[in-house]
Amino acid sequence: MVNPRILIVEDEQAISEVLEYNLAKEGYDVELEYRGDTALDRIRTNPPDLILLDLMLPGLDGLEICRIIKRDQRTASVPLIVLTAKGGEVDRIVGLELGADDYITKPFSPREVVLRIKAVLRRAETQESEAAEAIEVGSIQLDLPGHRLLLGGEEVSLTATEFRLLKILMERCDRVQTREKLLTDVWQYSEDVDSRTVDTHIRRLRRKLGAEAQRIDTVIGVGYRMRC
Ligand code: CA
Repeated sequence: MVNPRILIVEDEQAISEVLEYNLAKEGYDVELEYRGDTALDRIRTNPPDLILLDLMLPGLDGLEICRIIKRDQRTASVPLIVLTAKGGEVDRIVGLELGADDYITKPFSPREVVLRIKAVLRRAETQESEAAEAIEVGSIQLDLPGHRLLLGGEEVSLTATEFRLLKILMERCDRVQTREKLLTDVWQYSEDVDSRTVDTHIRRLRRKLGAEAQRIDTVIGVGYRMRC
């Protein structure tokens, strides 16, 4: 396994060097940034596995970085630990509200930082593997990472759109999905798509689902519902 990459964003060189030394000793690949703006560039172009983020930074404030990366889909899931000054209660709360996974108050011991990093990385890993699991309804199984439909264990081929449609129906089973909602969520409502497209795709999906097709109910005048 490759070593997790940790980005330390901290303008006080003495602190970042101590951290770098201790984290490297634990087997992490450590990268350093001393300014907020260049750190943000690096995070966007090559997201690390975890960010240790000081809040008072030249170039761009740490809380602002936190806000930006947690709003951006490409970087939102990168675990983030903020480093706050002693007594920086407000920063700490704001940091957590903005989506930081944990915080460490200065002055800290390198040992404490290592333990926190391990805990946050472990949590992120668990979330990832849970999110990557398959969804099941009856004998229909969607293998999400593999992008495959298994029907009673047999693979059935789906187009990318059919896959998205089926995934949404399964995730929201027993709840009626209007045509409009499906158009928005599956097709992102492009101009050239009308509500008959939904019907056409449901028809195809039913054909492919065989006996399990009876799980998809037509709710007249509204849309569709898959029974759990
Ligand atoms: Ca600072």
